[in-house]
Amino acid sequence: MAQHLLDLFAIESLWTEEQRLVRDSVRRFARERYAPVLQKAWDDERFPDELVPEIAQLGVLGAQLHGYGCAGMDAAGYGLTMRELEYVDSGLRSFASVQGALCMYPIHAFGSEEQRERFLPRMARGELIGCFGLTEPDSGSDPGSMRTRAKKVDGGYVLDGAKMWITNAPVAGIAVVWAKTGEDASSIRGFLVERGFAGFSTPRMHGKHSLRASWTGEIALEGCFVPDANVLPGVQGLKGPLSCLTQARFGIAWGVLGAALSCFDTAVAYSQERKQFGKPIAGFQLTQQKLVEMASGIINGHLLVNHLSGLKDRGTLTPTQVSLAKRDCVRTAIETARSARTVLGANGIMADYPVMRHAQNLESVLTYEGTHEVHTLALGRAITGVDAFS
Ligand code: FAD
Repeated sequence: MAQHLLDLFAIESLWTEEQRLVRDSVRRFARERYAPVLQKAWDDERFPDELVPEIAQLGVLGAQLHGYGCAGMDAAGYGLTMRELEYVDSGLRSFASVQGALCMYPIHAFGSEEQRERFLPRMARGELIGCFGLTEPDSGSDPGSMRTRAKKVDGGYVLDGAKMWITNAPVAGIAVVWAKTGEDASSIRGFLVERGFAGFSTPRMHGKHSLRASWTGEIALEGCFVPDANVLPGVQGLKGPLSCLTQARFGIAWGVLGAALSCFDTAVAYSQERKQFGKPIAGFQLTQQKLVEMASGIINGHLLVNHLSGLKDRGTLTPTQVSLAKRDCVRTAIETARSARTVLGANGIMADYPVMRHAQNLESVLTYEGTHEVHTLALGRAITGVDAFS
């Protein structure tokens, strides 16, 4: 009987008892509670937010933050939760990433004490859903070119602009919106825009072929007044949104290994059962080569994110290191999904198996949180000292 890949390389022995307990509880929820409702959510193009209270109970919302009702997990523990969520669907992991890393993190890191007390406990309990508004119709990889403006008035700011591709936006009770208070990127500030503020709306985006079990929307800001009490006091400039993205990208590097594992497990099991030319297709060298390529990528990915977790816990993790991990792990996952699809032959395109859904989801993950190309340029700049961005 073959050993599971992660046991073969003693990967699971890397985790502490506590990390394994968290992993197991998230795994149970994702596979036993979430997976059964996933196909309907995918067909309806919605995130099943009726499960948010249960997701919150797992401690995965703002899992790495300390205080304010958050679980205060270490980096590898948090990473394992992301992996287990994405083993089932990238949309589920995206929900948790946006809530924790993109919305709760900036409030925790850059918010006032009053803002932390006001928002974080409710967000950790899943009573308040957050979204992160950076991307605009004409500003994607180059967020410094954003057009959304915040004009200072008595007692606050008036926001005008439009954000696009915003995960969770249609159901969010709070949006962390990044806007310029002046002409250049150094004037960018973070605003906590609450549902019910006049001039704030979040039309839903339809027609996705990827991350269908996830809410995606626009944010329209039309003369939206945001009081001074809702401006993040602790950061200004692109550093604000970019530091949130570093947090989220770390979780993505871990998470996509879950999608890759799901595809790998499916392909191994299928290849052992499916017979052609009188024997299981697992017995053909070409099939084994595909499985071995998948396995190498998945094992290397785990060693990489485990190393980065240690650096993160010690407080020395850099954005460049996270760029390499996001880029590399997503590439591993998408190549694994595409290769697993071929192992399943025609069955690979069917909803009975998770492979095609993962492959479609990973197209979004390849693009969001810094495209593959943008991370290539960030790494190229770090290695050569020459900036090839513009
Ligand atoms: P563009 O920036 O227009 O890029 C198009 C292509 O050009 C890409 O291949 C890119 O790599 C390439 N390119 C651009 N510049 C260069 C360069 N200098 N050199 C070489 N190639 C280059 N955004 C949010 O703010 N909040 C969210 O919650 C959010 N959720 C998302 C959910 C989904 C499902 C998706 C698909 C996107 C989401 N995004 C979100 C937006 C995402 O972050 C952007 O799509 C991403 O930053 C890329 O921007 P763009 O799509 O405008 O592509």
